Amino acid sequence: MKVLFAASEIAPWVKTGGLGDVAGALPAALRQQGLDVRVLVPAYPALKAAFPHAKEVARPHWLGGLLPSPVLLQAHVPDGGTLLLLDYPPYYDRTGNPYLNADGHDWLDNHLRFGLLARVAAWLGSHSTTLAWRPQIVHCNDWQTSLAPAYMHYLPGNAAKSLVTVHNLAFQGLFDYASLFELGLPDNAWHPGGVEYYGRLSLLKAGLQFADAITTVSPTYAREIQTDEEGMGMGGLLRHRAEVLTGILNGIDTAQWDPETDAMLRKPFTRYGADRLEARAANKTALQRLTGLEDEAGLPLFGVVSRLTHQKGVDLLAAIAAKVLALPAQLIVLGTGERELEDAFRLLAHAHPGRCAVTVGFDEVQAHHIEAGVDAFVMPSRFEPCGLNQMYSLRYGTPPIVRATGGLADTVIDAADAKRGNGFVFDEPTAADLFAAIRRAANAWKDQQLWQRLQRNGMARDFSWDAPALRYVELYSALLAA
Ligand code: ADP
Repeated sequence: MKVLFAASEIAPWVKTGGLGDVAGALPAALRQQGLDVRVLVPAYPALKAAFPHAKEVARPHWLGGLLPSPVLLQAHVPDGGTLLLLDYPPYYDRTGNPYLNADGHDWLDNHLRFGLLARVAAWLGSHSTTLAWRPQIVHCNDWQTSLAPAYMHYLPGNAAKSLVTVHNLAFQGLFDYASLFELGLPDNAWHPGGVEYYGRLSLLKAGLQFADAITTVSPTYAREIQTDEEGMGMGGLLRHRAEVLTGILNGIDTAQWDPETDAMLRKPFTRYGADRLEARAANKTALQRLTGLEDEAGLPLFGVVSRLTHQKGVDLLAAIAAKVLALPAQLIVLGTGERELEDAFRLLAHAHPGRCAVTVGFDEVQAHHIEAGVDAFVMPSRFEPCGLNQMYSLRYGTPPIVRATGGLADTVIDAADAKRGNGFVFDEPTAADLFAAIRRAANAWKDQQLWQRLQRNGMARDFSWDAPALRYVELYSALLAA
């Protein structure tokens, strides 16, 4: 089975969030199932640097509208995978974030940058392709590649089935009417049953409208996005497409996130397994020393690794952080995001030296240290399509404290379930409910027998990509059989 996996970022080279992790891991897991998967991504500087010997394999042209003629480069990943790098330096040879300029604003030509990516994905799945390798499935991800199914619908010569995976419905790729022509879409695509979305062009909506199948990254999120409350304006369309919509929980990279072999747990940190949970005490001490927290074993240490945004509910934590520290407890936060939230946490650290440590920045190594060293992980998301960090936490014996939403609800079981509990779950996205859950966790932590049961329950669960990859294979097979 030949599958093109089209994405706007791919770990470990270019990653801003969960999508990058999925693009790095799922294609490899699919290859292990015997599929022939190639990943199409823009040739950002980091990828060109990583693959200096990538070879030109095609030059798609006459793509329509204002779309330029890019070059397709092919590169081989050490694990055996194949990348198709979409090279067009005026679009992709930009430093920093793939979506934002240095001021934090969207690049003004994002519709063209990602329209081109989607257009080339559709081209590869069509009879127009000049590449000998033609996919049977074009698997798109989020708004950046979601226009592909619309091209496959409106342009002649399509030869593939399409699938769109929604990693986050909040990002909808909205542009104005003129984009329709710039992207080479026909005038008759401009209606609510086409690509129009309340007077604008939504790249995501185009995919949800025309994809042969839609998936999202957890079963609970698949249900939530069909409601008016949580459908972010797409609820009606998703209800309409309910028959082709499924939720498949993401896996995690179990090689990179394994407390027994974690390469980032170097001295003074130690590696450990479910049978050596006491080793975590040394990690807690190391983390406290590295971040300037008081070297205090007797207080529960709560940790956060997150984008600092409204979605993640970290404002709720900021609102009650002083009360949490007074429990007493310690808090460590690693994240970047909205200015006000960054400032709020900086202020907290300043006001509570030794008790609260805050790093504003993106730091993969510290993220591993936090998972391996804190007592409990806090993730109060308002919505969470899947979420990776709670799964890392479960695997690292760091019970997560989460709101019952999306993938958090599908992975974390409250300690009230004496047999299966692996963390703490609260319902409403309020500071009061979050505080109650944190206080419950702080009390539970004093009972080390209970706590270790929570830790071991989390660590026993399989979060590898094996099971999700099988689900995708089944879905692809069903599409091809249809
Ligand atoms: P989202 O994709 O919505 O940001 P996820 O939990 O699905 O949230 O994935 C976030 C990923 O990014 C995880 O791998 C997490 O460890 C990582 N991450 C987020 N913020 C930081 C940060 N400041 N430093 C290091 N890693 C981070």
